[in-house]
Amino acid sequence: MANYLTPAMSLYLDQLVDWPQILKLWRGDEVDVEGEVGAFRSVLETAASLVEGFQDEARRHWADEAELTADGGAVSPPHICAAYERLRESGLVSLSVSECYGGFGLPTLVNGLFLEMVSRADPSLMMVVGLQTGAAADIEKYGSEEIKQAVLPRFTSGEFQGCMDLTEPQAGSDLGGIQTRSTDLGGDRVRVDGQKIYISNGGAEVHLVLARDDDSYEESKGTTNGLSLIMVKRHRDDGTLNGLRVTRLERKLGIHGSATCEVLFEGAEGVRLGAKGHGFRAMLDLMNNARLGVASQALGLAEAALHDAVVYAQQREQFGKPIAEQPMVRSILAKMSVNAEAVRALLYRTYKLVDLNLAREAALKRTDLSEMERVEIQEELERDSTRVRLLTPLCKYFATEVCDDLTRDAMQVLGGIGYTMDSDVAKLHADSLIMTVYEGTSEIQASFALREIGKGALNVMFDHVRGELDEIAADPTRAELVETVKEMSERVDIAAKVLFSDIPYALLRSKLMIQMVIDVVVATEFLHQAAADENRIDLAADWIHRCAMESEHMSKRIESGLDDRIDRDMRLFELATTSV
Ligand SMILES: Cc1cc2nc3c(=O)[nH]c(=O)nc-3n(C[C@H](O)[C@H](O)[C@H](O)COP(=O)(O)OP(=O)(O)OC[C@H]3O[C@@H](n4cnc5c(N)ncnc54)[C@H](O)[C@@H]3O)c2cc1C
Repeated sequence: MANYLTPAMSLYLDQLVDWPQILKLWRGDEVDVEGEVGAFRSVLETAASLVEGFQDEARRHWADEAELTADGGAVSPPHICAAYERLRESGLVSLSVSECYGGFGLPTLVNGLFLEMVSRADPSLMMVVGLQTGAAADIEKYGSEEIKQAVLPRFTSGEFQGCMDLTEPQAGSDLGGIQTRSTDLGGDRVRVDGQKIYISNGGAEVHLVLARDDDSYEESKGTTNGLSLIMVKRHRDDGTLNGLRVTRLERKLGIHGSATCEVLFEGAEGVRLGAKGHGFRAMLDLMNNARLGVASQALGLAEAALHDAVVYAQQREQFGKPIAEQPMVRSILAKMSVNAEAVRALLYRTYKLVDLNLAREAALKRTDLSEMERVEIQEELERDSTRVRLLTPLCKYFATEVCDDLTRDAMQVLGGIGYTMDSDVAKLHADSLIMTVYEGTSEIQASFALREIGKGALNVMFDHVRGELDEIAADPTRAELVETVKEMSERVDIAAKVLFSDIPYALLRSKLMIQMVIDVVVATEFLHQAAADENRIDLAADWIHRCAMESEHMSKRIESGLDDRIDRDMRLFELATTSV
């Protein structure tokens, strides 16, 4: 069996993260950096050896579904419950919750590596632990101290699981359509009434619900104003059942082990987290967290498919030799590997930046900083928050799209057996298909990213990237590659100018645009990787040469379509409506 704590993960843990900078900001100059990083590694090593063991059971029981319970809940299939119990016994749940509530307070990168490993073994199990961590993080950020003391230790002990309840029949991508109602009961206490659908792990004890405030219900309808984030528990404090129940479980194409629930709220008692009417902002934190979580889920799943395809191609012989020796097959496998590494580069780079920002926020709360240090940290925090706001939808978009393609390629490598339900790659592909949809579809990620670009995030990000490239070019062997990446970035700038002269056209082309941005960022990160590990220079060179050619093509498509593309699509759409 493969070692889940891969060399690429270790490269980041050991070399590519500036832990002294992050940890000193986070915990102060006295921090024992070596000890902390050693602890991260030991958590991940323990997790890797445990989680690897879940893979076989997960695949054997892939089709097993969650079930409704008599008391209005839902229970995961036995293999998921058993794996969760093993994680819980080992203390491997809610890893990023602060130590004062019983967690490890782990950086997001380390938590992301953990989720990636869980997903590699079982993407359905990852839904359970990922949502649990995300819900706990939101409660830690927005809950009162009383709530945190009451709830978070029960998350870190594994007793409580969490879920996020946003979607309604009429409110999918557009959460302005939310109709679930929140009525004040005094203080932060509210009553919740409404129906949510497609809620993952909806049998969990703790629901974070986005609901519309009763007193501004009519005037806020159709917008994301007037929404509050409510924590609703399945059981009241006295142990009686609260007014919510799972009324239906969806049957799906994949991730069968993850319960996808319709949840009905009828007079459910809850407590508001954060300010009244500002729930969308609070939920965005949870969603951004979850988007990076889904990107980790996609990467873990892609690694599983890549591993299976490589092993099969080395063993399967046709025409007297392993199919891995056929140039076309080898080329498919090489492309799969480069694309998975590209996702890793983008995602780990984003996690690093998120951790640096969290460390800065922690530093700003301390009293031992001079005014000058405070101002400097605040400025860096604002600049890098802009970068994270752009990078997060890019990660979700890119990781999930690559995972779809990669698992499909894995099926092709396996030939006929890849299409049978006996093959694991078919299961992995079926599991991957939802990832471009939940936590905001690919189209929604592209439009979010475009909006950030429109607000100036691209300039902030590329200023930084160009500074990094200048430093990398100090090594003369890298100068030519750096020059190519800079040319790619200039093409992005030109394309952005063209796009923003016409907003509907910009939306139409947003996927092309963000792919060009991703290509530049990944190229830069690959060059950093190659500086730390010379073996990775082929990755950087391959990516840069391929993307440089594609960026020329994409920028031409963007520039040439401005005059007639929207009209042509309209005519083609009309043709479609009359021809079927
Ligand atoms: C297995 C599963 C698990 C889920 N888990 C959860 C969960 O835990 N919690 C939760 O709240 N929800 C969950 N969801 C719901 C999920 O987040 C939504 O399905 C998703 O956001 C899309 O909403 P929709 O299905 O209503 O599609 P729609 O919003 O109707 O979109 C349909 C299509 O139109 C496109 N589209 C819509 N608007 C635009 C636009 N402005 N620009 C471009 N394209 C657009 C979309 O990209 C998509 O291709 C889950 C769904 C599934 C299937």
